[in-house]
Amino acid sequence: MALKDVIGQESAIKILKSAVLKRKAASAYLFHGPSGIGKRLAALNFAKALNCTAAEGDGDACGSCTPCRRIEGGMHPDVLEVRPEKGVIRIDEIRSLEEALSLSAYEGSFKVAIVDEAHLMKIEAANAFLKCLEEPPAGSVIILVSSAPERLPDTIRSRCQAIGFKPLCGRDMALLLEDRIKEPDKKGKTLQSLIGLSMGRPGLVIGNGKGADILKKRQDFLKALHEMLFSKPGGSKNPVWADKEEIEDFMDGLELFLRDLLVLRTTGREDLLMLGPEVPGELKTIFKTAEEEVIIDCYRGVTEIREGLVYNPNKSILWNYTAGMLKRLLPHPEKRPG
Ligand SMILES: [Zn+2]
Repeated sequence: MALKDVIGQESAIKILKSAVLKRKAASAYLFHGPSGIGKRLAALNFAKALNCTAAEGDGDACGSCTPCRRIEGGMHPDVLEVRPEKGVIRIDEIRSLEEALSLSAYEGSFKVAIVDEAHLMKIEAANAFLKCLEEPPAGSVIILVSSAPERLPDTIRSRCQAIGFKPLCGRDMALLLEDRIKEPDKKGKTLQSLIGLSMGRPGLVIGNGKGADILKKRQDFLKALHEMLFSKPGGSKNPVWADKEEIEDFMDGLELFLRDLLVLRTTGREDLLMLGPEVPGELKTIFKTAEEEVIIDCYRGVTEIREGLVYNPNKSILWNYTAGMLKRLLPHPEKRPG
């Protein structure tokens, strides 16, 4: 694999290849954009391009020399990666990264440090990291990867060259998924609904080491939404979310659901729905009754909830708050089921 295999991110890849060609890599980058669109993949392949011993004429890595293969396998001593554990990046991990960066490269021409989901650094970790960015060790390249760059301190963001990544278009998604998904899932309808549900984020379908299964996530979301809107008070063990990741998955599903509602209200076309055909009957009542203003209000509400997740809200309070917000989508009380 090389930079050319990062599909749908032409402008980002062009900047990176040109930095390699000119031997003018920045000391720190911030790769930002929604999750599951290839930011970390680009970071790894940029590390390859910087250290490749048989680089292509356009600045890309060859993908097959010893450094390229070591980086691919996570075995290169000069390419370091920190990823969050249980939703946080701790200060001791940042300290050992700093220490490793301060040593000269073992064999590569560049030391590359990748911090995945960098906004999950705890504040003291971010402070420690800032020192590293202020005085970057010679010959090192730091790449922060983040799907929520607004959660990073300004002092960190301002020291990085920002490179934006975008969701993929339908054509690129089809190209990528046809190649990667298993035989039974390939058949027309499933492929189409996978493309719709992934919102241009292939990582949600093919998984980035987490084995994400988008179709199962859709089922989980619809079940949770049904529970939230129709279970009788005290009748079930709310909330159904186990952790922050499940809350984020729910909010992903909810955005899609609200998008579907709005599409249906404005176009009346069921064929344009992403979740539509699978939505169970009781939830479908909302399709007929939800008012546009309320849908838009709920959409704003979801954005606010996402921003608030950084403060680790109480799950039960958040569940009830979200339920209260969404119940405005239901038919008027006298027609409301249950
Ligand atoms: Zn190579």
